[in-house]
Amino acid sequence: MTGLLVAVAVVVGLAVGSFLNVVVWRVPRGESVAHPPSACPRCHHVIRPRDNVPVLSWLLLRGRCRDCANPISARYPLVEAGTAVLFGLTAWFTGPSWVLPALLYLAAISVALALIDIDTKRLPNAIVLPAYPVALALLALASWNPGGVSDWSALIRAMIGAAALYGVYLVAALVYPAGMGFGDVKLAGVLGLYLGWFGWGALFVGWFAAFLLGGIFSVGLLLTGRAGRKSGIPFGPWMLLGAAVGIVVGEPVAAWYLGSL
Ligand SMILES: [Zn+2]
Repeated sequence: MTGLLVAVAVVVGLAVGSFLNVVVWRVPRGESVAHPPSACPRCHHVIRPRDNVPVLSWLLLRGRCRDCANPISARYPLVEAGTAVLFGLTAWFTGPSWVLPALLYLAAISVALALIDIDTKRLPNAIVLPAYPVALALLALASWNPGGVSDWSALIRAMIGAAALYGVYLVAALVYPAGMGFGDVKLAGVLGLYLGWFGWGALFVGWFAAFLLGGIFSVGLLLTGRAGRKSGIPFGPWMLLGAAVGIVVGEPVAAWYLGSL
């Protein structure tokens, strides 16, 4: 059952990854993700459906436009393959569970937000703000758990987690505006929803892991001379990675830590 679920998630992930390439390019430019259809940026020929198959088309075309041979960035197939792997791992992590839709949605917006933040150092409201009602609805479905035992306390914890993480990041942004933007604060609320749903341990580990991983990376950049003290790295990718760590290992790590005190 889980094997079939993983296979389906990988195929869905390929298609979602293809769509995320459009999102990552168009959303920061304020363009519609639905219209017009994708076209070659040089010769403006609309991409044919057979040339729009995730990963495969890029390989068959050897990374060039069919009409003008303009190179197509390897980032497109890499995002498609990466999203497919992430979706497969997510399905493998949850197995057949009602929390899977909520986590696949988080995986999809994580890929888009991390790439946009690296490209533009922004986390667009057009993605972050709708994530509040969508994540809340999907986590409500997970709490309802049709056909099984409902756990509404997890949903209440999710809302407290959202408020808590939003508050922590708001203070950080006010105290240290050079290192933290309000895009990060708004994203923190969404991640708090997810981490809180999984548990207090997940919430704490997810928050701590973001600062630990982002901090190690920044210090590494400073020590190797790749970044000055003021170059400012985007923090969104670290928040998203930290949340993933919190969701996957937060509860056991917190239990082990509390047990060792
Ligand atoms: Zn072309």
